[in-house]
Amino acid sequence: MSRVLIIGAGGVGSVVTHKCAQVPEVFSDIMLASRTKAKCDKIAKDVKQLQKRKIATAAVDADDPKQTAKLIKSFKPELVINVALPYQDLAIMEACLATGTHYLDTANYEPPTKAKFEYKWQWAYKKKFEKAGLTAILGCGFDPGQSNIYCAWAAKHHFDEINTIDIMDCNAGSHGKAFATNFNPEINIREITQRGKFWEQGAWKETDPLSVHTTFDFAECGPKEMYLMYHEELESLVKNIKGLQRIRFWMTFGKPYLTHLEVLQNVGMTSIKPILYEGKEIVPLQFLKAVLPKPETLGENYSGKTNIGCWIEGKKDGKFKRYYIYNVCDHAACYKEVRAQAISYTTGVPAMLGAKLLLTDQWKRAGVWNVEQFNPDPFMKDIGGHGLPWVETAPTGPLPI
Ligand code: NDP
Repeated sequence: MSRVLIIGAGGVGSVVTHKCAQVPEVFSDIMLASRTKAKCDKIAKDVKQLQKRKIATAAVDADDPKQTAKLIKSFKPELVINVALPYQDLAIMEACLATGTHYLDTANYEPPTKAKFEYKWQWAYKKKFEKAGLTAILGCGFDPGQSNIYCAWAAKHHFDEINTIDIMDCNAGSHGKAFATNFNPEINIREITQRGKFWEQGAWKETDPLSVHTTFDFAECGPKEMYLMYHEELESLVKNIKGLQRIRFWMTFGKPYLTHLEVLQNVGMTSIKPILYEGKEIVPLQFLKAVLPKPETLGENYSGKTNIGCWIEGKKDGKFKRYYIYNVCDHAACYKEVRAQAISYTTGVPAMLGAKLLLTDQWKRAGVWNVEQFNPDPFMKDIGGHGLPWVETAPTGPLPI
């Protein structure tokens, strides 16, 4: 029986709240806090209706560690689940340290003024969390998150040595909007417009943005064009999966999405450099975010499925082995269960399960950890029952690139 504070009332925060509410034997008291309290109250109303649970809500500016610490002191949670934006990670970690509270998030820190995400800022907190006897779990969504755990599971049960990993993220869903992003538009566009990067034979190699691509036939989604991108889990997996020779990340995009993105880039709308507009400084990408559909509003008419998984090659008992593990998630089924689309759902469910494993002492270990550093078995045992079952196959041919 534990008290949990969830910060961030967007698409992911809503799913985490619903999923925690479904597990009352662990999450006995839930508070959802965010910058805009009205959003928390709307989610609380849905949770009452769908999950028959009453949760507390509050307003907090999580950029201010003092405000967050004050809220923590009044609600007294054992754990804070941070599903606000990556900009708040360090401030929330500070508030957790100041109040003796465990911490979990789904995206690594990124400075607001520079489109660069890296673990170094959060890893630097390792000693402080160790000293305080507190656990911080980083990147416990789907990718990063379940994708890292798939790798740890493969390393533990399927391989003596892993040589290559390709993480493949396909969204074959349709939300009926001309252009929208499935999670926070600002974070999403900053990520996609970066240069591509992958790791091979001990070195990082860069590619022009979205310049490397191939078609892959995803189960239950069909053939889709997937593009090589840099993604944050590559940084920790390179350190934590021994014997790795290459790791890449791929994401699918449709032509209309890429055309919109190209136009927006060409006219300067994706820039994070402030400009003067009618005497006021605005950031074009933040303005774009304000006019785009909110990720949490996409669920209602979303159809189709996602397929996210890891294609892994290496050696078992001295022989070459090829292994592919993935999850398929249906947008409409997610909406029916928790009023969310599958991208928010696939992020929020692993976050809830990571929190459950921490609070039941299975993933409690003082320090700052990426999820592949924990035992994958309890996660893999439970994740199907919470809504994200997995499929394992032994592909007969190589990846088409
Ligand atoms: P949204 O933009 O929908 O929601 C973000 C929420 O955080 C909003 O409610 C926002 O409040 C709140 N927020 C922003 N700033 C503050 C602040 N200073 N103090 C308090 N609350 C604040 O994003 P998503 O729900 O789509 O994404 C949430 C997180 O999940 C992001 O970090 C994203 O990167 C991560 N993610 C991880 C994935 C994974 O697989 N690992 C996949 C998808 C997302 P307001 O409404 O007032 O703006």
